[in-house]
Amino acid sequence: MALQLIQDVDLNRKKVLVRCDFNVPLENGKITDTTRVDLVIPTIKLLLENGADKIILMSHLGRPKGKPSADLSLEPVADYLAQKLNQEVVLTESAIKSGVKELLGLSKIKIVLLENLRFHSEEENNDSDFARQLASYADVYVNEAFGAAHRKHASVHSIIQFFPRSTYAGLLMQKEVSSLSKIIESPQKPFVAVVGGAKVSDKIKTLEKLLISVDHILIGGAMAYPFLKAKGYTVGKSLCSEEDQKLASSILKQDKAGKIKLPQDHITSLSFGGEAIECPAQNIAENEMGLDIGQKTIEYYSEFLSSAKTVFWNGPMGLFENKNFSNGTFEICKTIAKLNDCFTLVGGGDSVSAVMQSGLADEFSHVSSGGGASLEFIEKGQLPGVQALKFGV
Ligand code: AMP
Repeated sequence: MALQLIQDVDLNRKKVLVRCDFNVPLENGKITDTTRVDLVIPTIKLLLENGADKIILMSHLGRPKGKPSADLSLEPVADYLAQKLNQEVVLTESAIKSGVKELLGLSKIKIVLLENLRFHSEEENNDSDFARQLASYADVYVNEAFGAAHRKHASVHSIIQFFPRSTYAGLLMQKEVSSLSKIIESPQKPFVAVVGGAKVSDKIKTLEKLLISVDHILIGGAMAYPFLKAKGYTVGKSLCSEEDQKLASSILKQDKAGKIKLPQDHITSLSFGGEAIECPAQNIAENEMGLDIGQKTIEYYSEFLSSAKTVFWNGPMGLFENKNFSNGTFEICKTIAKLNDCFTLVGGGDSVSAVMQSGLADEFSHVSSGGGASLEFIEKGQLPGVQALKFGV
C-alpha cells in the first residue's frame, strides 16, 4: 500500500496536525543548525496555500525524560519559524493543556506549535490516551518526521488510530521514503556504500544488510580500526573496543566476496586531537591513534566511487570536527558530490553536517534528515512510523 500524499487533499477549513522533527542542536538557547526546520517549510507553505484553517505543529526536542525542562523548550524553533514564514507562530505552554483548544478557537491564530512532546513520558510510552488528546486538535494528520519514524512513539504511531482515512505523508517524508526505497529495492550498480563514524556496534546490522546488495563498502572513521585489528594490523591507541573487534571479525567472515575495503594509510596523533602525523602504512604505531584517513586511502576510495551508479554515505571519515583531521571527510564528500549520473544519498547527523559545511548539499540526490531512521530503514526495509502511515496500527 502506498503512502497517502498531502498534496492530493483538499484542506479547506481543515485543522491539520503535523508531526515534525524539530530536534535541532541548541547552544545558549540559539539554534546552531536550522536544517531540520528549513526542511519542513515547504510542507507548511503547501498547507497554507491549500486552505488549511489551522496548522498545529508538534515535535520532540532532546531527551527531557518525561519532565518539562526550560533548556529544551521549542521556543527558539517557534521564533525561527515565525521569522521564516513571516507570520505569528504561537507556542503552547504544554502539548496537552486545555488551553490549547481555546487557542485553536481564536480565528486570528493560524499556526500553533505544541511545546516539546517529550515533556510527557506518555509520548515515548506510545500512550493512546495521550495520542487521543493530541488527535482531538485536528481533522487531518500529517507525518513529516522521518527522523522519528523508527520510534514507536505516541505522536507517530498510536495517534494513527484516531485519524481513520486522514493520515498523510508530508513532502519531506515522501522524499525520504522514496529515496531510501530506491537504495533498498533497486539500487543501480555499481552500488558503493561509504560507512564511517565511531562505533561498529551501532551500524553492524546495517552493514550486514548492505553486504548483500552493495558492490563495495568503503570503511572510514574510527569504524576502520576494529576491522584492521581483526585482520591482524596494529592500531596503536586508536578507538577500538574488544566488542567492536569481535563484530568486525564476524562481518569479515561473512564478506566472502571481499566487498569491504579498509584504509591504506592514516592521519594519526599522539593524543586525541593533538598534532597531525602522516602514517603512510596500514599499521599504526603503538603510541599513536588514527584520527583520519590518509591521501592514499582518499585516492583508493575515489577510484571505487568514480564508476558508481548508486552511493550511500553514512558517518565521517575521521574526527572531522577538528580541522587537522577533517580532510578525509571533506575530500570524500567532494568526490561524491562531483559524481555524474549517480544516485547519491547521505544520511546521519555528522556526515550531513559535513555536507552542509562543505556547501555541496545541492549536489547530492538526497540529504536525509534522519540518521538512525535511515540506517534502520536500510536494515529492516521498513519503519514503524511509515508502516503505521501506510497500514494503520
Ligand atoms: P557516528 O555517530 O557513529 O557517525 O560517529 C561520528 C563521530 O565519530 C564524530 O563525532 C567523529 O568525530 C567521530 N570519529 C570519526 N572518526 C574518528 C576517529 N578516527 N577517532 C575518533 N573519533 C572519530
